[in-house]
Amino acid sequence: MYYGFDVGGTKIEFGAFNEKLERVATERVPTPGEDYHKLVDTLVTMIEKSDQAFGCEGKVGIGIPGMEDAEDGTVLTSNVPAAKGQTLRQDLEQRLGRSVTIDNDANCFALSEAWDEDLQGEKSVLGLILGTGFGGGLVFDGQVFSGKNHVAGEVGHTRMPIDGWFHLGENAPLFACGCEKKGCIDNYLSGRGFEQLYAHYYGEQVKAIEIIQRYQAGDEKAVEHVDRFLELLAICFANLFTALDPHVVVLGGGLSNFDLLYTELPKRLPKHLLSVARVPKIVKAKYGDAGGVRGAAFLNIK
Ligand SMILES: [Zn+2]
Repeated sequence: MYYGFDVGGTKIEFGAFNEKLERVATERVPTPGEDYHKLVDTLVTMIEKSDQAFGCEGKVGIGIPGMEDAEDGTVLTSNVPAAKGQTLRQDLEQRLGRSVTIDNDANCFALSEAWDEDLQGEKSVLGLILGTGFGGGLVFDGQVFSGKNHVAGEVGHTRMPIDGWFHLGENAPLFACGCEKKGCIDNYLSGRGFEQLYAHYYGEQVKAIEIIQRYQAGDEKAVEHVDRFLELLAICFANLFTALDPHVVVLGGGLSNFDLLYTELPKRLPKHLLSVARVPKIVKAKYGDAGGVRGAAFLNIK
């Protein structure tokens, strides 16, 4: 059995998957606020309960909004105070007497999609999340590639390419990022970025969903905004594709439901890629919020 935990700021979602990768158990509990021991106890209790129910020792994978420090294994996260700075993996391993795998939630998202029936045969899958933030994960041969410092796939914190900057015009906004740098594409390509750009150019705070509704109604500003955004997306994606050359790209997060992406990006990307490169298949994520648990569980498939 494969156990997956999606540990978020407010809730912990659990899923147990059998050898056919079918989900056979689900549980959801609140994340203990700042109490680390309660967090460990909660996870251990759920794992032991499942071991008993299934008569085995399940393999444990955990997805977190953050990462493990590559040297001392402490959890680097700002969204789960209970786990912040703690050696969660080592402490769970000691309590459970088995190995535990922890990875970034965006990597888990990508892994979940990569293990979908339709994509299992693909050599590489790049998952990109256009949600509150812009993040991603890389899967090669069915395994997450997280890099030396576990930051591989942190695409949102690469900076705006120069052609993207020119594309935004003379009045281009230089947004500051939560990572303390300026110009990270997280602040431009995410749902938040989509709204910030609209506010910058039109002086009005409008929710992404409403901008899209206005676009669909033919509103002039919204049409101009969406056109500018899609081209920016193509420019930034092209940089990533040139560096990584993924076989398939899966889009998740709120903006991934904007169907125009799947017709416009293939049209707009070629001029920003090397002439020998063909646009990879770009598809919408299938698993939505369940992807985090699935991917966490599949961290232990070798
Ligand atoms: Zn940043």
